[in-house]
Amino acid sequence: MKSEKKEEKDWSAVEVMQEVNEKLSSYVDALEQRNRELERLRGLATLLQSCLTVEEAHAVIARTVRKLFFAESGAVYLFGSPPQALVPVAAWGDYVPAGNFLPWPAGWALVQERSYSGDGRYFPVLCSDGKQSGQDICFCAPMVSQRETLGLLYVRLNGNLPKQNGADRRRVIQYKRQLTVTTAETIALFLASIKLRENLYHQSIHDPLTGLLNRRPMYEFLEKELLRTTRKKQPLGVIMIDIDHFKTVNDTYGHGAGDAVLREFGLFTQKHIRGGDFACRYGGEEFLLVLTEASLENVKQRAEQFRKEARLLGVRYRGRLLDPITLSLGVAVHPEHGQTAQELLLAADAALYQAKADGRDRIATVRQHTIAEHARQL
Ligand code: GH3
Ligand code: MG
Ligand code: MG
Repeated sequence: MKSEKKEEKDWSAVEVMQEVNEKLSSYVDALEQRNRELERLRGLATLLQSCLTVEEAHAVIARTVRKLFFAESGAVYLFGSPPQALVPVAAWGDYVPAGNFLPWPAGWALVQERSYSGDGRYFPVLCSDGKQSGQDICFCAPMVSQRETLGLLYVRLNGNLPKQNGADRRRVIQYKRQLTVTTAETIALFLASIKLRENLYHQSIHDPLTGLLNRRPMYEFLEKELLRTTRKKQPLGVIMIDIDHFKTVNDTYGHGAGDAVLREFGLFTQKHIRGGDFACRYGGEEFLLVLTEASLENVKQRAEQFRKEARLLGVRYRGRLLDPITLSLGVAVHPEHGQTAQELLLAADAALYQAKADGRDRIATVRQHTIAEHARQL
């Protein structure tokens, strides 16, 4: 009788030990899992740090966040360009984003720039549905930096939670919620700094009045483009443009009117170039177009069309319609007129001088001896 009782006692001690062991090993598993997730989060930060463009960062985010929340379902939405459009850049698990439709309460999280849980409360409050087992729990964390919302991270925990209600379940929910917020904050921080860097770079290479490239970066792009087209054995054209009698605009209507003409001309030019081509403000009222993969005949045609259409540019200044502008255009093509960027620009400049000398409001090309003569006179 005595030994039976002792055996019962031993047996229940073994059960308790087993239970403690199971708990301990599940804690160890959970800790290991968290370590892995924090390692991935650090990996995301390292990758984002090395991104030079927003485009690169979007690709990194799309690739990495799904790995971080691989046991859950979710999506990353980011504002693209135009910035009004919120685009799903990644979706995983059984969550399928329907176009730009956002799961509730994601829209609310965006409007309020705060993180929300499935029941609409924002994050410092533990969501109430976390206490009921078997129910989906979702978090929406907006990516906000300097009061600008850059995107949104949506995570749904599905059934990957301890089934029993209680401390364990609440702890997992709390941890996942924190991971969601920290991930969104990390992305926001890096994305904002990449955007800022991109904006500064854009400003540094563009003329603020016309929005066109400045002369120095244009020269670098032209040199690169020449290497590429030479390798591909393709022609490349440049058009040097000068607005005729522009000083008269300033003298007649004032500098403000002159600026308005330059601004409108910049917009007009941007609209008239194809993808791959580029336009620059060469200085004052002089501009340069670089037309890639374009033959001499093609460049001349496009210069002529540009000249005709620029005449129709009706610029208003202080409610007054200004006189139409006319252009003189010098055309040069690689390889006919020059091998290097410097030679090509010299040839286009010589042709522009010729267009001016011939009476303005026209296009011109010149032969090698005229280019050589022009170089001597500079
Ligand atoms: P041409 O037909 O020979 O080219 O005559 P033009 O009057 O266009 O040329 P000129 O070189 O005599 O004058 C160019 C003028 O452009 C002088 C300068 O004050 C003006 N200009 C240059 N940059 C700007 C600018 O940013 N804003 C304004 N409003 N005027 C500018
Ligand atoms: Mg000029
Ligand atoms: Mg001029």
